[in-house]
Amino acid sequence: MHCDYRTTVDDYAGLTTLPPPCPLCLGYLRPAVVLFGEALPRAALTRLQAVLDQGYELVLSIGTTSTFPYIAHPFSYAHDYGALAVEINPGETHVSRFADIRWRLGAAAALEALWAALESSQA
Ligand SMILES: [Zn+2]
Repeated sequence: MHCDYRTTVDDYAGLTTLPPPCPLCLGYLRPAVVLFGEALPRAALTRLQAVLDQGYELVLSIGTTSTFPYIAHPFSYAHDYGALAVEINPGETHVSRFADIRWRLGAAAALEALWAALESSQA
């Protein structure tokens, strides 16, 4: 079933029924992410393949254990593509051995630090 209803919330604390019902089609609302067991959207896979075909300079692995091949492949083959591989993860992952740079931080802390560094470099 296809439904075009979209909404955003500041947090999920106010939800009393899980999963929440859709006011339009009476189905269930869900986040716009790929959940475990689901296939990636075809458009995303097509875009990924186009990027791989054209080559890339930098690949970031942030907050994932890189278990799935479509995540691990671009990272583990970064050297073949002449790209820099940066991993941000507090633990060891399937692709840690391929990383040129490793930040042993959680994603939120690392991205806040990276954002602050980028902002200060532009000031
Ligand atoms: Zn709906």
